[in-house]
Amino acid sequence: MSEWFPPPGDGLSTMQVGRSWDVVQAPGTVAPWIRSAGFVDTAHIICPADECLLWLVPCGSTEPDRWAWERISRYATVRTGHDDAIQVPHADQTTGPGPHWGRPDFWPGNPRGYLTDALALNTGLEIATLIIGPPAHRCAVCERAVWPDEYQLALVPRGPTAYRDYAHPLCARAAQLQAPAAEHGP
Ligand SMILES: [Zn+2]
Repeated sequence: MSEWFPPPGDGLSTMQVGRSWDVVQAPGTVAPWIRSAGFVDTAHIICPADECLLWLVPCGSTEPDRWAWERISRYATVRTGHDDAIQVPHADQTTGPGPHWGRPDFWPGNPRGYLTDALALNTGLEIATLIIGPPAHRCAVCERAVWPDEYQLALVPRGPTAYRDYAHPLCARAAQLQAPAAEHGP
């Protein structure tokens, strides 16, 4: 199990993403929900200027759950690029107008240090972001995220039967999918 700790003392260092950890970023609006509900009880970086929260997760740990992250990609961003860098507060930098650590009130330490489990974080964010909007569905044609304000229902042939499923309108047209009949038609 990988672990990581920030440099001791006060201050900030610019550090590259994708070297010791990847970054999950979410808007500050989800902060009270995800923290008070105790979904993810780990250290995170609070960035007042950008009104966002950053969690550091083990490198590559978001990859096996690519779809899980795509479901909430309007609200949370996964940053894995090696040409990306963030301002990392040192361990004692827990206040301030600049980036600083938010830590649980009860902080017994964590076997992963300041790293957060990506799967637990995804689950917490998926629940917390429901106050902002629903998670995306998977488009039946291109398999990417399709959001409630942009999907259409289409009849998707699977074997001998066709099923109602969500699709981007452009995808449905390109695949020549039929619209389902009205639910309570004659
Ligand atoms: Zn599509």
